[in-house]
Amino acid sequence: MTMSVLIIGGGLVGTSSAYFAAREGLNVTLLEQKSIGYGASGRNPGFVWLHCRNPGWALNISKKGRALYDDLRRDLPVPFEFRADGGLIYFHDERQAPIFKEFVAARQADGLDMTLLGNKEVRDLVGPIREDVVGASYCAEDAQINTPTVVAALAAGARAEGADLREGVTVSRLIFSGGRIIGVETNDGNFFADKVVIASGAWTEKLMRASDLEVPIGRERLQVMATKPLPMQIKPVVYGPTAAKAYGLFRNLPSWNDELFRSKIEEESGYEMLTLAAQRANGEILIGCPMDYPSEVDLFPTLDGLKAIADDIINDFPGLKKAGIDRVWAGVLPFTSDLVPVIDEIAPGLVMAAGHVFGNSAGPMTGKLISQILTEREPEIDMTEVRWNRELDPVIPGATLHW
Ligand SMILES: Cc1cc2nc3c(=O)[nH]c(=O)nc-3n(C[C@H](O)[C@H](O)[C@H](O)COP(=O)(O)OP(=O)(O)OC[C@H]3O[C@@H](n4cnc5c(N)ncnc54)[C@H](O)[C@@H]3O)c2cc1C
Repeated sequence: MTMSVLIIGGGLVGTSSAYFAAREGLNVTLLEQKSIGYGASGRNPGFVWLHCRNPGWALNISKKGRALYDDLRRDLPVPFEFRADGGLIYFHDERQAPIFKEFVAARQADGLDMTLLGNKEVRDLVGPIREDVVGASYCAEDAQINTPTVVAALAAGARAEGADLREGVTVSRLIFSGGRIIGVETNDGNFFADKVVIASGAWTEKLMRASDLEVPIGRERLQVMATKPLPMQIKPVVYGPTAAKAYGLFRNLPSWNDELFRSKIEEESGYEMLTLAAQRANGEILIGCPMDYPSEVDLFPTLDGLKAIADDIINDFPGLKKAGIDRVWAGVLPFTSDLVPVIDEIAPGLVMAAGHVFGNSAGPMTGKLISQILTEREPEIDMTEVRWNRELDPVIPGATLHW
């Protein structure tokens, strides 16, 4: 008899799991509380970011995930937006140069295609950036997706393979019998299946708690603005120097100096900034992002967060000072204390795929791994780092996360 699977959550991880599981011939139903792409996957600016992925599982899955986009572009029934124009982190203080030099050398040793760019090269790639930019680390392997289009294409692929994707269905509790998962309770009645996949992103802790289970998956809110469509002027995905301090790969360098990476805007606003800009094919430029850590999922941008984006971008991208703003929003990304998700069978028949910090590179590939786990085959990547029973620190709401 065909194995039946329920998937909870319609983000990159859930839709990809549905697509690959349905391709294996499994009988798949996906339950999404709002609409496909409602969570972090529909709200992020689309960096497929290998630049700062830690060696080990994170870099392995990101490299595979980056390559998987070629297969998905060929196989999914509807197109999605993908651009392979690299990514950079610029800096505008000469004192930061030795740190970036050391960072690029370390990343080259990790096997990434990276170089250090100078002023003219950065300005050629990023039109509106400040003239006194000193340089940038550049990774040719970084790419960009229009994330909602990827989720929509994965959902269309899953449906084309026979999966049933239902929107507006909230799972309130998991149902067990004799220690084995047998189904879920929802606002639309109970659903039963042989196996259940939890792909509920930043909502996972809440869902697990309702079923008397604990998992330390935290929530980080990031705020974003989108300009109106503008002429094409930013080719790669772009981070500013404030973003460097978010990554252990920078912070652990012998040359690291934290004070050089703290801005006046951060001090005034109280937010750590992940200064970023990325331009989509339709011309809109996504800019951001102040970061904070709500105790529950909170999808509202704040006035002081939006002010911090405006101040930061006017400072570093004077060419965007007069850009019309079309939309603002916030999204919440999930994380664990060791920065890699939980992807494992956590009880008989119950598989967790949650806690993705870098879902754009790892999300679609996670779906492929989930289909291998569901069909009891050896996953094609070593999964030791993401197993359920590893030691994870508890999440402390409000505590700053560094990746
Ligand atoms: C602003 C922002 C910027 C980011 N930038 C990047 C980036 O540049 N690169 C990158 O790789 N990653 C980035 N991320 C992280 C990335 O978005 C996530 O890693 C990824 O989207 C996680 O995918 P997911 O499918 O696990 O979760 P989600 O996309 O959040 O999907 C979970 C889904 O589950 C649904 N759900 C939850 N609970 C229930 C329930 N009880 N019943 C039914 N449905 C439920 C939700 O509605 C949601 O649609 C960013 C995140 C944000 C918010």
